[in-house]
Amino acid sequence: MDVTVLEAAKEFGEVGAGIQLGPNAMKVIAALGLEKDVLQMASLPEAIVIADAVSGKPISRMLLGDAVRQKYGQAYVSMHRADLHTILLSAARASGVQLHTHQTLQNYEHSAQYICRRDTNIDQKFDVLVGADGLWSKVRAQMLTDDAPHATGHAAFRALLPAQSVPEALRTPHVRTWWARDVHVVSYPLRGGNLWNLVVLAQMPNSHQEGWSLSAKHQDVMRLFKRTEPPLQALLDAGGAQQNGWNRWNLFDRIPLKAAHMAQGRVALLGDAAHPMLPYLAQGAAMALEDAWTLAQCLSQHDAPQALQAYAQIRAPRTKRVVQTAKRNGQVFHLSGAIAVARDAVLSLKGTSTVGMPWLYGHSVL
Ligand SMILES: Cc1cc2nc3c(=O)[nH]c(=O)nc-3n(C[C@H](O)[C@H](O)[C@H](O)COP(=O)(O)OP(=O)(O)OC[C@H]3O[C@@H](n4cnc5c(N)ncnc54)[C@H](O)[C@@H]3O)c2cc1C
Repeated sequence: MDVTVLEAAKEFGEVGAGIQLGPNAMKVIAALGLEKDVLQMASLPEAIVIADAVSGKPISRMLLGDAVRQKYGQAYVSMHRADLHTILLSAARASGVQLHTHQTLQNYEHSAQYICRRDTNIDQKFDVLVGADGLWSKVRAQMLTDDAPHATGHAAFRALLPAQSVPEALRTPHVRTWWARDVHVVSYPLRGGNLWNLVVLAQMPNSHQEGWSLSAKHQDVMRLFKRTEPPLQALLDAGGAQQNGWNRWNLFDRIPLKAAHMAQGRVALLGDAAHPMLPYLAQGAAMALEDAWTLAQCLSQHDAPQALQAYAQIRAPRTKRVVQTAKRNGQVFHLSGAIAVARDAVLSLKGTSTVGMPWLYGHSVL
């Protein structure tokens, strides 16, 4: 297929933060022939370790590493977003995709035969338009008269740390998460453990402003916790002490779309444009990768409008389930009082096992 990418940003690039890719996403990466490149740049955490943020008491341990590979047929990796982006970008270039930066799609015209881009001084025709333009999608705004993204009242604070700033006890190949009332913390290694990703996710008022890199003060982050166990406190202090400190990202979502709204005629939505979600399942980018693979398959099997319909029928139910599960996770992570004690007891009783949810991680879109 002849593919043209119109990117609004002045240049291609990604923010300085980490990303986890579960085995379902890694199946797409492998099918694209990029597994080796990704594994070269990624870290392979051995387990997800969950603890109480106040007492430090372990709550649960779920195996990743070989256990995940055996159970789900692919690795669970963590990596720097810029590394993933670079790998995808050079693969797109190598396969002849035409890439244009500084091109904001404002407006299009839709006929039965084609899509016409209608921006100032530009008149280009395409067979299909894929709105992969994120949370504030202009394509979606023109295609649907639906709700705007709504502020969830949750915000993420992120920092990147060199390994030597991470307390030694925490410098292990694990995805670590600490839970407390209305807040949780996630940290994991990047670039083979040379770099650490640290994110604090919290329910808080005044989280309506959009944007990735709203800077935040260390005391604002610390105010989210009543008390923290000493290693976590040291990790958070190290996050605040970095030159770039904390960046705040307010979290928005939308009600999941029905299939009939995910594609119409020759226009389809993909990734966050179609199904933005809270990051509490680490699956937003994974869903975008799965969407893209399925869309390509459908376009290779059917003519345009039918292909887009088939794509939407396949993707809408799965992405809806992922959006809803991510939201529910947030409620579980942020519990307090007696119900949090009950949650911890149930999880402790389960003991150590391979990370669950075969419907999610075991799924293959290939
Ligand atoms: C704190 C946090 C942690 C997360 N962790 C994970 C994780 O571990 N694993 C995971 O899978 N997901 C994770 N996610 C989710 C993931 O970041 C998103 O789901 C993913 O970036 C969505 O990709 P996208 O390409 O659909 O949209 P975006 O990444 O938003 O990209 C949209 C692109 O479209 C461009 N654009 C916008 N408008 C226009 C226009 N009109 N014309 C042309 N170009 C335009 C933008 O410049 C941008 O480059 C996390 C999210 C958050 C907030």
